[in-house]
Amino acid sequence: MTNANDVVIIGGGHNGLVCAAYLAKAGKKVTVLEAADQVGGAAATREFAPGFKASVAHLLYLLDKDISKQLDLEQHGLRIAKAGLNTIALAEDGNHITISAEGVDGGGLSSQDKAAYQEYRRFMSKFAGVIGGLHNKIPPRITYQRKDLIALGKTALNLRMMGREDMREFLRIAGINIYDILKENFDHPLLKGALSLDAVLGTNSGPRSNNSVFTALHRMSGNTGKAAGAVSIPAGGMGAVTEALAGAARKFGADIRTGSPVSEILMDGNAVAGVQLANGEQITAATVVSNADPKTTILELLGARHVEAEFAQKIGNIRAQGNAAKLHLALDGLPDFKGISQDQLGERLVIAPNVEYVERAFNHCKYGEYSSKPVAEITLPSIHDSSLVPPGKHVLSAIIQYAPRQLGMGWGAGKAAFLDSVMELLDSYAPGIREKVLTAELLTPEDIEHDFRMAGGHWHHGEMSLDQFLMLRPVPKSAQYKTPVDGLYFCGAGCHPGGGVMGSAGKNAASVVLAQ
Ligand SMILES: Cc1cc2nc3c(=O)[nH]c(=O)nc-3n(C[C@H](O)[C@H](O)[C@H](O)COP(=O)(O)OP(=O)(O)OC[C@H]3O[C@@H](n4cnc5c(N)ncnc54)[C@H](O)[C@@H]3O)c2cc1C
Repeated sequence: MTNANDVVIIGGGHNGLVCAAYLAKAGKKVTVLEAADQVGGAAATREFAPGFKASVAHLLYLLDKDISKQLDLEQHGLRIAKAGLNTIALAEDGNHITISAEGVDGGGLSSQDKAAYQEYRRFMSKFAGVIGGLHNKIPPRITYQRKDLIALGKTALNLRMMGREDMREFLRIAGINIYDILKENFDHPLLKGALSLDAVLGTNSGPRSNNSVFTALHRMSGNTGKAAGAVSIPAGGMGAVTEALAGAARKFGADIRTGSPVSEILMDGNAVAGVQLANGEQITAATVVSNADPKTTILELLGARHVEAEFAQKIGNIRAQGNAAKLHLALDGLPDFKGISQDQLGERLVIAPNVEYVERAFNHCKYGEYSSKPVAEITLPSIHDSSLVPPGKHVLSAIIQYAPRQLGMGWGAGKAAFLDSVMELLDSYAPGIREKVLTAELLTPEDIEHDFRMAGGHWHHGEMSLDQFLMLRPVPKSAQYKTPVDGLYFCGAGCHPGGGVMGSAGKNAASVVLAQ
């Protein structure tokens, strides 16, 4: 039995670490218990073959600049290996398109499409800014209390301040699908395909699914201080971000214990009393903050018997079916992508040749099948950071969709065949890549669920959508981070403002704990 903790945090993912750092900075005695042998959760660098390292969450585009500054992450070793990556929409014939914050080029794009892209960036960045403005705010409750009414009023005012036309457009498109919006604005199939990918990465949806505009906006909504959606690669991989966060938390006095899975949240009457580890050790604390996803926290670690049946049911109904797989390739040398120069190889490469292709790739998963022709977001981080590989070698990191958590044939039977489809796809864009592969690691949503303890293998701990947003995330009666159980709080991606390596959920949760 260990005593004298003010706060125990279950999980040392990036949000748990941010929460720990702010609480410790405010003088609380904090212990973080992380099940894995390293901190970071999905925001980690993983040695998947001897000498070859890859980030699980591989691109930084949401990390809150105030959090970076307040926790002095640079001082704790965070460096960016490459900032402002362009996106290159790969074409099988090598006639690709380059997409950046400034404009689009290549692929025989018309001047109309180029001009339309400028306007698309303008309104999407503006709308994403409205969502980003909510990231570091505690979602208001739907009550008649003054505080909540003022917060709701401010949100409505921010919408109105967009101007009449933009506000109307925001309300028109926020809940609908990206397919229609891209069709309204562009002609070029490859451009539409690549832009649609940003709306469905990490989600259980296709371009024609409702909410896909919202997920595209979420991706662009980071308060990063850079252009909306600007993408960078941290030196040392994403694990360097979370190691810097852990360094900050430790500096303020937090105790971080890895290899310490929590098996149970302990109760004393109606209030939490601490946690029990899998090895039987009990740690007492009047406040427990969970970085684990809401389903795991309430249904597994706490036990549904400690909450009202309706609340447990709502937690059980959170939509959190993972559909993204992660590929790591250890390569003997750089691959040759058709039409891509050496300089371009270090950019963000996407395979989404047209929006119908992306929708078809999604169709499979509705029936418990993986996509036979998947979509992909590819990076070669070792081009910018040689610390990830042995001399002369390279690593390819790719998000591959669609790979449903519930595969009809089971992932035990399906994984090798899916990997084969993925390699076939890569080979059609980078002929000969197979011969350069020394080791391949494919993480299916089942692996992600197991390795990172994310229920459903969903990388945002729950679908990012309007029905699971703001005061509805994860569910009402816990959207302000405090659960109905006295002393128990959420701080992970399952609560507002959702997934991605951002840190705001952890920071907001800390402010709620401190306000008690
Ligand atoms: C394959 C993949 C690719 C992604 N790519 C990107 C990307 O490129 N860019 C981006 O911004 N985001 C990306 N994401 C999403 C992003 O990684 C997540 O949204 C984010 O990491 C969530 O952070 P978190 O701290 O809330 O939770 P997590 O990272 O899930 O951390 C939760 C932690 O809690 C621990 N835990 C759970 N249960 C227990 C227990 N019982 N006892 C102790 N510890 C426990 C887990 O081990 C884990 O370390 C990706 C995710 C995945 C899976």
